[in-house]
Amino acid sequence: MADEPKSRRAVLADGVRLLGLAATSGVLGALAAKSGARNMVWQIDPDLCTQCGKCATSCVLTPSAVKCVHSYALCGYCQLCFGLFRDKRAGNDLHAENLRCPTDAIRRRFVEDPYYEITIEEALCIGCGICVKGCGLFGNRSLQLQIRHDRCIGCNECSIARDCPSNAIRRVPASRPYLLRQRGGTR
Ligand code: SF4
Ligand code: SF4
Ligand code: SF4
Repeated sequence: MADEPKSRRAVLADGVRLLGLAATSGVLGALAAKSGARNMVWQIDPDLCTQCGKCATSCVLTPSAVKCVHSYALCGYCQLCFGLFRDKRAGNDLHAENLRCPTDAIRRRFVEDPYYEITIEEALCIGCGICVKGCGLFGNRSLQLQIRHDRCIGCNECSIARDCPSNAIRRVPASRPYLLRQRGGTR
């Protein structure tokens, strides 16, 4: 028998748990591996990021340590996430159809009519920020770029921070390694 769809409330609760778990396990693993020597880590301020594309190309790692992270509490559970459009339109680069994910890293799961849960398959995400731009222009700004600390090797000088045109990357305490836009502000 097919699983019954979860209510939107249950999915929201799951989402918050998942995000918290990912943040905690990621940083604990990374910090353990780095012997606890650092107490500050690099992170992106989503309120300053303009999705210029350098997060995908300037990291010393390939693919980049920057990934799209989803703040479920802000998401509108759109029937069609802007990163999911199938067809492209010629012309204006900011047409919603032109902001779809280039690696098909965005997944959609039916919750209840007309809501869909959007998840990012991090293994496929290259940190290009295209979906983040689309969500910012047409959605709730729930998709955001973040340096994932289970991947980042903690360069002394982050090469993306050096290249970032909007000074959106700074050091934050390792005890609070993510800067996520959530209900009530970025923290
Ligand atoms: S380099 Fe800066 S502005 Fe460009 S995508 Fe990364 S954080 Fe955003
Ligand atoms: S940041 Fe780029 S690769 Fe990652 S999910 Fe968004 S559009 Fe896809
Ligand atoms: S500190 Fe190094 S590995 Fe981490 S995001 Fe910056 S360039 Fe990439």
